[in-house]
Amino acid sequence: MLARVALLLFLTLVCNSQAIAQEVRIGVFGLFHPRQLTLQASRKEAVVLQTANQTFVLEPGSPAAATLRISDDALLLDFDGHVLRTPEIRAAARNGAAVSFLLTVPGRISRAYHGTLVAKASRGEVVPIITMDLETAVASAVAAESDSDAPLEALKTQAVVARSYFLAGGGRHRDFDFCDLTHCQFLREPPPQESPAAVATRETRGLVLTFEQKPFAPMFSRSCGGHTHTPASVGLPGGRYPYFSVSCEFCHKSPYRWTRKLSSQDAALLATGEPGRLAVDRRLGWNAVPSNNFTSHQEGEQVLLEGVGQGHGIGLCQRGAKAMAEKGGSFQQILNHYFPNTALIQLHPGIAPARFRSIDLPERRM
Ligand SMILES: [Zn+2]
Ligand SMILES: [Zn+2]
Repeated sequence: MLARVALLLFLTLVCNSQAIAQEVRIGVFGLFHPRQLTLQASRKEAVVLQTANQTFVLEPGSPAAATLRISDDALLLDFDGHVLRTPEIRAAARNGAAVSFLLTVPGRISRAYHGTLVAKASRGEVVPIITMDLETAVASAVAAESDSDAPLEALKTQAVVARSYFLAGGGRHRDFDFCDLTHCQFLREPPPQESPAAVATRETRGLVLTFEQKPFAPMFSRSCGGHTHTPASVGLPGGRYPYFSVSCEFCHKSPYRWTRKLSSQDAALLATGEPGRLAVDRRLGWNAVPSNNFTSHQEGEQVLLEGVGQGHGIGLCQRGAKAMAEKGGSFQQILNHYFPNTALIQLHPGIAPARFRSIDLPERRM
C-alpha cells in the first residue's frame, strides 16, 4: 500500500513537472476606465508587441512608448510612426514569457507590472489584462489590502487568504479571472522583493486554506465590530464554506465606531442588509455606510446611524488579525480562529488550479 502511495506520488510529481505555472489573468486599472494607455519597456528587457499581423519591439530603457487608444470603439496602436487598427494587442518578452513593463493612464497613474499583457477594446475603453504568476498576484494583493504597519504574521494571514481567493474565487468576469478592485481583490503593482508583503508571500508560498479538503475563496473585512458575521445574518447567500460567527477580542474591547446621517429614502435601502449597504455606497460613495452593524433613529428629516466595524464583517477581521499578531499569534492561529474547521494545504509548485482539484496532493495540515 505504502509502495503504491509512493508510486502515485512519484507519478504525480513527474506528470506535473511539465505542468503550466500557476497564473492568474487580472484586468487592471479598473478604477480608471481608460480610453488611452501607454506602454514602455523596463530598463532590463525588450517588450515585443504583437497585433494580428505586425510585430514591434520596445527596446529596454528606451523612452519610446506605444500608445493604445480607443477610436470609434476600436483599438488603435500608435508606435514609431505607425498607426494600426487592431482587435487586440499582445505584449511579452522575446521568448513569449512574462516581462516587466510600465503601463500608464496619461495624467492619472503609472504602474510597473510583470507578466504578459493583452489589451482589448470593450465598451469604449481599453481593457488591459495581465497574466501574472500567482505568487506575484498574491504579493500585489497583500501590499494593496494591508496596512503598512501590519505585523508579519498578519501579512502572512492575508497572503494565504489572497492566494486561496485567486485559486478558488474566479468566474466573475468575462475577459479575465479577476479585476483589481474590491469587487474581487484590490491589487496594485507588485511590491519590492524586500518589502514585508513580498516576504509574507514567500514565507507562505503555495499555502491555501481548504474546507473539506478543497480550497475556497475566504472573505475578509477591515473590522468586524466585536464578532464576525455569517453571510445569512447580513442577507448574503452562503458559499461552500459555512462561515461561523466568532468573537473578536480586540474589536470587542475597542470597536471602530462611526456615525452617519442618511435621508429616510437611503436608510430604507439598508433593511436588506449587506446588499442594501452596497446599494447605498454605490449611490453616495464608498464608505457612506461603513458596516452593517448599527442602530438607527429618526432625527427630523434624516436618519442617524450609529455603528461599529468596517466592511461586511464575514471571515477574517483584519483589525483583529493585526492585534492577534501583535500579541504573538501565528498566521496559523489567526486563520484557525476566524475560519474554524478549515485546514491549510501546500500546493505543489507547478500544479495548475484546474488540476489541483482533481488529484490527491500531499497535505500539510496545521
Ligand atoms: Zn471583480
Ligand atoms: Zn474584529
